[in-house]
This record gives sequence, C-alpha cells and structure tokens, in this order.
Amino acid sequence: MSDALLPWHQPLWERLQQRRQASNLPHALLLAGDAGLGKQIFAKQFAHVLLCSQPLVGGTPCQQCHACHLMAAETHPDFHLVQPEAEGKAIKIDQVRALIEYSYKTPQISAWKVIVIAPADAMNINAANALLKTLEEPVSNTQLLLVTARPMALLATIRSRCQALQFKTPDSSTAFQWLRNQQEDVSEEQVRILFHLAQKAPLRALNFIRSEEWEFRAQLFSEWLQYTRHQLDLVSISKVWSTHDLHRVIFHLQSWVQDLTKWIQTGSFDALVNTDLAAMLKDIAARVDEQSCYRFLDQLNQANAWVHSKIALNAQLLIEQLLVQWSDSISVMPA
Ligand SMILES: [Zn+2]
Repeated sequence: MSDALLPWHQPLWERLQQRRQASNLPHALLLAGDAGLGKQIFAKQFAHVLLCSQPLVGGTPCQQCHACHLMAAETHPDFHLVQPEAEGKAIKIDQVRALIEYSYKTPQISAWKVIVIAPADAMNINAANALLKTLEEPVSNTQLLLVTARPMALLATIRSRCQALQFKTPDSSTAFQWLRNQQEDVSEEQVRILFHLAQKAPLRALNFIRSEEWEFRAQLFSEWLQYTRHQLDLVSISKVWSTHDLHRVIFHLQSWVQDLTKWIQTGSFDALVNTDLAAMLKDIAARVDEQSCYRFLDQLNQANAWVHSKIALNAQLLIEQLLVQWSDSISVMPA
C-alpha cells in the first residue's frame, strides 16, 4: 500500500486544502479517530503538500521538486516525526524538548516545518506539559499535527489548543471496494466479515487479511466446535490455545457468542457477523440459552480485562476456566 490518500479521507482533505489555500491553517491540528483509518497516512500526505514547492491543484504534491524527492526518500529536514522508541512505549520529555528546539529553527528547504506526533496519547505527563508551552506560543511557519485514536487520553489543555479533524469509519461499499483493490484473492464474504471484525476500520481489516487471521479464526472455531461436541478434551485444547495471543482467542469467542445471542433473539442470519459459520452456530444455539450466553460474555470480558492488566497470569489455567464455564452453559451436543 502506498502513502497515497485513502478514498474516505477525501472530504476532510478538501476542507483542509481550502484552508491551506486561504492561508488559514490552525497552528496545531488534532487528527482523531479510531485506529485503522489511516490518520498517519493523512498526516504525512498533508505534510508533504505543505513542504512541496509547487503542489498541484487540489493539493497533490508535484513529486518533481527537490522537497518531494526528499520526502520520498524520508530525509526532508523540515519534516519531523515524533513517535515512541518502541511500540507501546511512551513519548518522553527529551523527545518533546528536541521537538521544541527544532520548532524554533527556520525551515531549511521548504516554506514550512511540519512536526507530526503519533500517537500523541503516548506522551507521558512530563512530555505533554512540555508540549503545552509550544502550543501556547506558536512559532510561525511550523505546523503541528497530533495523531491519536484516544483523544480523551490527552490533557484537556492540549486538546483545547488544537483544532480537531475527526476521522470517521467509511461506508461499507467504499471500504469493500478499497480492500478488494488491495488484495484481489479474497472473497466478498471474507472481506465483509473481516471488515466487521475490524470494527469497520479498513486498515485493520487489511491487516487481518494479510496476517492470515482468516485461517487462524477457522482453526480456532473448528477446535471450539470439537470441544463443544466433546470430541476434543479440555487439557488438549487449553494447551494449544494458551500458546496463542489470548486477546485474539477471546476476541473471536466474543464475536461467536454475540452471534449466538443474535440468532437466539431473531432466528435470522441477517444480523450475524460470522455468516460463514452460521449453520454451525445455529447448531450450537440449539443447546444454549440466551442468559447463559450473556453470562459467558461477561466471563470473557473479565478474562479480557485480566489479559489487558498485564498482571502475570497462567494462560492455560485462564483458558481452562473459560472453557469449563462454556461447557457448563451448554447441554451435550451430538457429534
Ligand atoms: Zn513537489
């Protein structure tokens, strides 16, 4: 996938381009919206246009000028990306101090300097407080772009000094079309299911497609069904499942049990996410009642919270407990 603008970015892009052309850009922009919508791609593309010496009509970088070549090589000196040193780590005060120092320098090549902070919610409290000073005393010709999927995790004082650009999930047909253009060997049903599992975030769905989530899910479901039918014993399945990422295991179980409740309530496949598993889910639904499903969903939520809390836990024991709770909810199912 290239860094080109994504189809669902267009309305936000046009609004921003109008402001750029009217020389009416806010000093700091907060790009907010769910993960997997391409906010960082948008930020980089917008930075590129600001740095390009002859952007085309509509706000496309010319790809010909010196600045464009430097952006393509990721060596443009007027572009500064601040991110955690490793995924999941914090952005530290030293990184923000370096950014502040950088913001006071004059641009070397382009008319602007652009600073992207992604994800902005990774700034620890000291880093955030240091940034606040810069937001209070804007430097001319410096554009700040803060990217976040969790705007409420930022200091309110930071949020209030940025103008928000809210990214929304695209409509299904736009997303399906785009996903199928990225990866032609997936079926329509696969695209639709993975898009829903990705909570309608297309880049996340694409990641699912490319990371063989489909195959993983199929294997997991087959084992769950075998266990439910007493064809696979508790210890064997727990041993295998405890070697997986527990988030993913719980995530899929949640999705299947939610579908079970929908089937029990409506007796229709229409509302299901996992339509490819509908026949088998229907079989399971005949042996479980709605309240037991909800109880099991509560237990899954609790297990998820434990996994999130990162307290040391015995994965196999956790899986065993969950599966025992599940088999307590169902009546015996013939093979
Ligand atoms: Zn250019």
